[in-house]
Amino acid sequence: MTAAVHGTDEDGGLTRLAGLVVDVPDHPSPGILFKDLTPLFADAQALATVATELAARVGDADVVVGIEARGFLVGAAVALVAGTGVVPVRKAGKLPRVAASTSYDLEYGSATLELPADTVVPGMRAFVVDDVLATGGTGAAAVELLQGAGAQVVGFGALLELTALAGRDRLAPIEVHALLTA
Ligand code: AMP
Repeated sequence: MTAAVHGTDEDGGLTRLAGLVVDVPDHPSPGILFKDLTPLFADAQALATVATELAARVGDADVVVGIEARGFLVGAAVALVAGTGVVPVRKAGKLPRVAASTSYDLEYGSATLELPADTVVPGMRAFVVDDVLATGGTGAAAVELLQGAGAQVVGFGALLELTALAGRDRLAPIEVHALLTA
């Protein structure tokens, strides 16, 4: 087991999720312990657990926002269960029509995120999701884009939170919901 569990359905759900997280040392660069969630996404029961557990935390959000790229997998699944639409926040150069963009630092390197045009309108309530919350730089950039567009970010959901990197603090006061911690 490589991750701790947070939730109530420990027998059939979240405990099983934790067992599907694979640690990959030194990827994509030396010193990074990469959390490979692809076996978890490939497992039908685990994917359903992720969607159900995070959808239960979406509350009254109007839209789920997934961060490229693994956040798209989480976001679409969660939105479908929660009964909302889904908006992809993408890396630079991918979107044909961009509403806003911002640059930010990663645990490794730096990047730019872009918000698609004609998706988020002022007053919209957004719940942001990603696969892993590390330093929180990516999440904070997504929040900045959404708030700049006039949306209210009502929560942030992640499958796995790397607690030592304190991403939760960087996102404060936005409430963070993590299914697993490591
Ligand atoms: P951060 O901006 O530091 O919170 O990094 C979050 C983003 O980078 C997420 O989109 C993750 O997919 C990815 N990421 C960062 N660190 C890791 C890690 N140790 N294992 C897997 N993905 C990571």
